[in-house]
Amino acid sequence: MAFLGSAFRRVVSAVRPPLSPLCRTYARSYSSEPTKEKSVPYEKTLKQDDGASTGPTKPLPRSADVVVIGGGSLGCQTIYHLAKMGLTNVVLLERDRLTAGTTWHTAGLLWQLRPSDVEVELLAHTRNVISKDLEEETGLHTGWIQNGGLFIASNKQRLDEYKRLMSLGKVYGIESHVLSPAETKDLYPLMNIDDLYGTLYVPKDGTMDPAGTCTTLTRAASARGAVVIENCPVTGIKVQTDDLGVKRVKAVKTPHGTIETPCVVNCAGVWAPKLGEMAGVKVPLIAMHHAYVVTQRIEGIQNMPNVRDHDASVYLRLQGDALSVGGYEHNPIFWEEVSDKFAFSLFDLDWDVFMQHIEGAINRVPVLEQIGIKSTVCGPESFTADHKPLMGEAPEVRGFFLGCGFNSAGKSYDCLLFTLRYFMLLRLPLRKL
Ligand SMILES: Cc1cc2nc3c(=O)[nH]c(=O)nc-3n(C[C@H](O)[C@H](O)[C@H](O)COP(=O)(O)OP(=O)(O)OC[C@H]3O[C@@H](n4cnc5c(N)ncnc54)[C@H](O)[C@@H]3O)c2cc1C
Repeated sequence: MAFLGSAFRRVVSAVRPPLSPLCRTYARSYSSEPTKEKSVPYEKTLKQDDGASTGPTKPLPRSADVVVIGGGSLGCQTIYHLAKMGLTNVVLLERDRLTAGTTWHTAGLLWQLRPSDVEVELLAHTRNVISKDLEEETGLHTGWIQNGGLFIASNKQRLDEYKRLMSLGKVYGIESHVLSPAETKDLYPLMNIDDLYGTLYVPKDGTMDPAGTCTTLTRAASARGAVVIENCPVTGIKVQTDDLGVKRVKAVKTPHGTIETPCVVNCAGVWAPKLGEMAGVKVPLIAMHHAYVVTQRIEGIQNMPNVRDHDASVYLRLQGDALSVGGYEHNPIFWEEVSDKFAFSLFDLDWDVFMQHIEGAINRVPVLEQIGIKSTVCGPESFTADHKPLMGEAPEVRGFFLGCGFNSAGKSYDCLLFTLRYFMLLRLPLRKL
C-alpha cells in the first residue's frame, strides 16, 4: 500500500500546478520507507556522547520516603510538590539527563480551559507555579511566555461548548472572552475568518519552556532537601507481601545500588509500563508518534496568541517570529517496541499522517501557504483509552503510584492533587509534616 500511495503521489504531483513552499516540503520529504527512529536533526544528538563514564550524578541514599522515577515534566513537578509539602527525604532517579524522554521537545502549550473542573484546577495551579511561584522561590525565569490562547469555533455548537468552558473558568477565576469574527480579525490580522463562527480568547494562556521549567522545579525541590540523581536507571522494584497478604513496595534497584522505600512514583512517560512490569503492575497506556513542524519566519506573526482549532484538529503555537504547527493525528503511528536507548531523540516525520494538519493550518492562516518549514519534531507520547492521565496508587501494589499517560498535555499538568492524594493514602509522611 505504501508503494501505491507513493506512486499515486508522484502522479498527482506531476499533473498539479506548482506547490506552495509548505506543500513542496511535504512533497519533497515523502518517502515510501517506513518511519524509523532517528537522532535529532542535528549532527548527532543534543547530548554528545564523549565516551566518559556515565555514573550517577550523586551518591544514592540507602533509604528514602519516596522515590520518583523519571526526570521529565511529571517527575520534576512531583518531586517539587513533595518537597514543598514538607517531605525532605525524597529522591528522583532519571536514567539519562532531566527532560531526555518526551519533555525536551514538547510544544509547551498551556490552555487553562478544559471541560473538567479537576483539570481546570490543575491547569490553573500549574500556571501559577510556572509563572509566579518558581520565580519567587528560585530567582530564575522558567521561560514562561504569556501570549494568550485563542479557541476557534467554525459552528454554533462549538462556540456553545466554548461558552460552557468560559462559565466553568469563571469559577476558577480564569479570564476569557467570546469574540466575534471581526473582533478576532482585529486581534489576529493574519487569520482567515470566512468560515469562523466566533472564538474564545484566554489572555493568560501561554507557553512553557521545558528545560527552564524542569530546571527551576528541581532547583526549588533541591533547596528544600530533595535529591535529584541523573544517569541512574531503575532496573528493578522489590515488592513484598505483608502478613495480611497485601503487596507493598519495599525498594528500588539500580545498577549503582538499592534504595529502601515504601513508596515509588512512576513518572517514566512512555516507559512507565516497563516500570510497572517490574512491580507486577499494569500501566494501561500506549506510546504513539506525535509531531509538529516549525515554520520559517512569518511577517506579522509576532506577539500573536496561540491558536487551537478543534474542528480542524490543529494548533498554531507562536515561536518567536514563526509558528509551530501540530495537532492530534487521526491515524497515528504506534511505537510498538519502546526502546530504552531513546534519549533526546526523535522519529522521522511521516508526512502522510501529518498532512491533515497542514491543510487545516493553511485554511486558518492562509499566509502559511507561502512559508517554508524549518524543522520537524516527531517524538513519543503516551495516550490512554479515555484521554485522561493515570494518577494515583495502583490497585495491585500499595505504595506504587502512577503519574503518567498525559495524552499530549503532560507539560501543563501539575501533580498537586495527585500529591495530596498521596499524602491522604500514606499516613506516614503526613505525620512528618
Ligand atoms: C510533539 C509533542 C508536542 C507536545 N506538545 C505539548 C504541549 O503543547 N503541551 C503539553 O502540555 N504537552 C505537550 N506534549 C506532551 C508532553 O510533552 C508530555 O506529556 C510530557 O512531556 C510527558 O512528561 P513525562 O514526565 O510524563 O515523560 P518524559 O518526559 O518522557 O519523562 C520520563 C522520563 O523517565 C525516564 N525513564 C524511563 N525509564 C526509566 C528508568 N528505568 N529509570 C529511570 N528513569 C527512566 C526517561 O529517561 C524520561 O526522562 C507534547 C508531546 C509531543 C511529543
